[in-house]
Order: sequence, then C-alpha cells, then structure tokens
Amino acid sequence: MSNYDDIKAECYEANLLLPEYKLIDLTFGNVSVAEPERRVFAIKPSGVDYAAMKVNDMVVVDFEGKIVEGSLRPSSDTPTHCRLFQAFKGIRSVVHTHSRNAVAFAQAGRGIPCFGTTHADYFYGEVPVTRSMTAEEIQSAYERETANVIVERFNDLDPTQVCAVLVHSHGPFAWGPTGKKAVENALALEIVAEIALKAIQLNSQVKPISSPLLDKHFLRKHGTKAYYGQG
Ligand SMILES: [Zn+2]
Repeated sequence: MSNYDDIKAECYEANLLLPEYKLIDLTFGNVSVAEPERRVFAIKPSGVDYAAMKVNDMVVVDFEGKIVEGSLRPSSDTPTHCRLFQAFKGIRSVVHTHSRNAVAFAQAGRGIPCFGTTHADYFYGEVPVTRSMTAEEIQSAYERETANVIVERFNDLDPTQVCAVLVHSHGPFAWGPTGKKAVENALALEIVAEIALKAIQLNSQVKPISSPLLDKHFLRKHGTKAYYGQG
C-alpha cells in the first residue's frame, strides 16, 4: 500500500496502452500521470521492458523533480514531464512516443496542418513544431530545456485546445486530463500525421480545413458547448 496507489495504477495502465496501440518500438516512450493537488506524478521507470513492468515499478516524483517513492530510476525524460506539469495548468498526464509518422513531421521541422475533420475532432488547428534547440540548451539541462521550447511554442496557444506538439528533430509529446485520454491523444496524433502525409503526397497544394468546419468539429466535442457523445 502507498499514498500514491491511484496515480501509480493509472500510470501503469496508460503505459501498457503504448505497445497495445503500437505507438512504440523497443522501449522508447513513456507516460506520466499527476495528482496536481499534491504536486506529484507517477512515471514509467527508465529502460524497463513493457512486458516485464509491474505497477509498483512506477516511480513517484514531485513537481520539483525529487523522487518521492520507488526503487527504480524514473524515465530519463522525467524533467520534461515535470516542467510541463508546472507550466500547463489543467493537464494531468503527459505522453511521449517516437511514433513514426509524427516523428517524420518533427524531423522535417513541420507542424501537422489540420487538413480535415479527423484532425479537427482532436486538435483545434495545426499541431505545432518547436524551434530547434540551441547547442547550449542541448548541452545543459537537455530534458528540462526540451520542455522549455514546448512552453515557448505555446506562448500564444492553449494547451487544452491543442494537446500535442512536435519537438524539432525529435518527436511528439501529447497530454490530457487522464492517462487514458492522453494516450488516446498520442494515438490520434499519429493517425492524423499519417493521413496528412498521404494527403500531401496526393496533392502537394492541399489546403487546411475551413474555419467553420474546424470550429464545428472541435467545438462539438470540446469546451462549454460540446454536445457530441454521451457525456
Ligand atoms: Zn524521445
């Protein structure tokens, strides 16, 4: 028994969805789940095989980056997760993968334009790409600076409306209100990246979705006037 059983269980289950959804190869990828009221989060341990991982392997870390509970080392991306929880109020879970189509956009240094309603159902407009990191940022506190370029990119964006980003030359981060929802957003991101890539191949002049259609699809599922589904 631990004070953190709830977030450890939610984190464990969300991490197991990554291989199930085929979002990861080898051990790339990690999910964290926070309890913002207590300023702590649970995160996958570093380099542990998904098949062998147990719920008690989840490491609990506070919002200052200090380990609170757990015998294994937390994911090497922990400072990125930590900084995002500090900066983005209203998010409870962060997911990082190297899913292939999203990584292709990140490596090309391109955001994923919103070309259609599949994208608009999840993301309110383009999924942005960050600027390249400087040598200084890479050589200092690399993982924390990775989050800082994300936060900088969201200076004029709402992270609850665009719940994913591509880090330049690296890959995607997604987030959400629960572990399950954040992983679903990471999967949606990979799907829309694949579709966008095909749309560009079929028509190199393809244009983003119209704003009335973007508004209709995003806002009927999200926000105060949402009416889609059973919720
Ligand atoms: Zn990575």
